[in-house]
Amino acid sequence: MTTIDLSSAVETNWAGNHRYRARRIEHPRTVEQVQHLVAAEPRVRALGSRHSFTDITDTDGVLVSLADLPTTVEVDAGSRTARVTGLAAYGDVARALQAQGWALPNLASLPHISVAGAVATGTHGSGDRNGSLATAVAALEVVRPDGSLVRIARGEPDFDGSVVSLGALGVVVALTLDVEPTYTVNQRVFTGLGWDTVVEHYDAITASAYSVSLFTHWGDGGVEQVWLKSRGDDGPADFHDALPAGATMHMLDGGDTRAVSAQLGEPGPWLDRLTHFRMEFTPSRGEELQSEYLVPRDRAVEAIEVMRGLGERIAPLLQVCELRTVAADDLWLSSSYGTDVTAFHFTWNRDVDGVYAVLPAIEEGLLPLGARPHWGKCFAADAGALAPLYPRFGDFLALRDRVDPDRVFGNTFLDRVLG
Ligand SMILES: Cc1cc2nc3c(=O)[nH]c(=O)nc-3n(C[C@H](O)[C@H](O)[C@H](O)COP(=O)(O)OP(=O)(O)OC[C@H]3O[C@@H](n4cnc5c(N)ncnc54)[C@H](O)[C@@H]3O)c2cc1C
Repeated sequence: MTTIDLSSAVETNWAGNHRYRARRIEHPRTVEQVQHLVAAEPRVRALGSRHSFTDITDTDGVLVSLADLPTTVEVDAGSRTARVTGLAAYGDVARALQAQGWALPNLASLPHISVAGAVATGTHGSGDRNGSLATAVAALEVVRPDGSLVRIARGEPDFDGSVVSLGALGVVVALTLDVEPTYTVNQRVFTGLGWDTVVEHYDAITASAYSVSLFTHWGDGGVEQVWLKSRGDDGPADFHDALPAGATMHMLDGGDTRAVSAQLGEPGPWLDRLTHFRMEFTPSRGEELQSEYLVPRDRAVEAIEVMRGLGERIAPLLQVCELRTVAADDLWLSSSYGTDVTAFHFTWNRDVDGVYAVLPAIEEGLLPLGARPHWGKCFAADAGALAPLYPRFGDFLALRDRVDPDRVFGNTFLDRVLG
């Protein structure tokens, strides 16, 4: 086991806006070492690939990184599942699956994020019929506060509360994911979709491909780019009043187009098209924060009007906004629990004070529509505002009380959002 003492080292999240306050980071090499560590420490949190934008991951005790555990991807063709261990990133899992002729149903915008960390916060891609990435989880293997290792499978009583866990229920050392035979995807980009068209044809637009992303700055020009990811070689040649992009596009002005996944309509393996960014590139200009609010689908058009009204106010901070859709699920703390949603994503300049100054205005407009913030991104709402948005919030608190009564996996973020 290797140890990083954080009394002198500076360790931050991916965006660099949060410096971990933990006393040290431990890198166990075996599951048994994880178990001993968790049992021995009064306060522990699992550290994933650090892509969250807040203090969600931190602790005043010890961070446990699974980076030194072996990463394996074992497919069981009979049950159409794959068991994934260690600090596996989606990109690693995707390559291993593809090599064996298998695929995941969906991916988020970049492949560098850890599977366990993404699942813990309800990370999602897009698609009217695609659930969040957490909905592909068939089972979890979790180290509990006493160091015991438990397996929780779909259909068992605690499962729906345990998948989107915010890291509050233990250290997940393995996940079993649903897989399907490999498939191809083609991506086409269109530019210039007017607001009138978006509002009038919203359902047809989001249903027009397997995965749809709309990029905007909320100006009068409407949606500036539409990214359509279709399975096989399906895909529209025309798209309402938008024009086909003649060349590869980046969603950020001046962004490096070598970093984005293949566009221009030629089909290729699912893993090379479902993400927006390629595994071999750092997917950003480096300086950003993110927020995201998942709005019940039937309130999406109202939410668009709210955001258009706030457009000028947020413009100085905004790099780009992206609208995606996510299908409803049964996972208690999922931002799409019980309802199909449209996700309103914001890529911000890395201006922490400026972003937190505008978030209350956005939340004042969107939360009354039933919007739930993405757990891994910047938001202002606390437990009082969040609890009414999640019908199973109380059940999650009860599950947490039973699993972790001494709050071994507690932290200030959870105090704030769970109360
Ligand atoms: C550039 C960028 C693009 C993004 N794109 C998307 C996107 O397309 N869609 C989307 O929905 N989100 C997106 N996100 C958000 C990201 O997916 C979430 O913040 C996710 O939780 C990050 O996981 P992580 O492991 O990197 O983070 P971490 O901060 O390391 O961990 C996140 C949470 O997971 C817990 N956790 C991590 N590992 C374990 C484990 N083994 N056991 C138990 N708990 C664990 C941590 O304790 C913490 O609570 C993006 C983020 C970035 C930086």
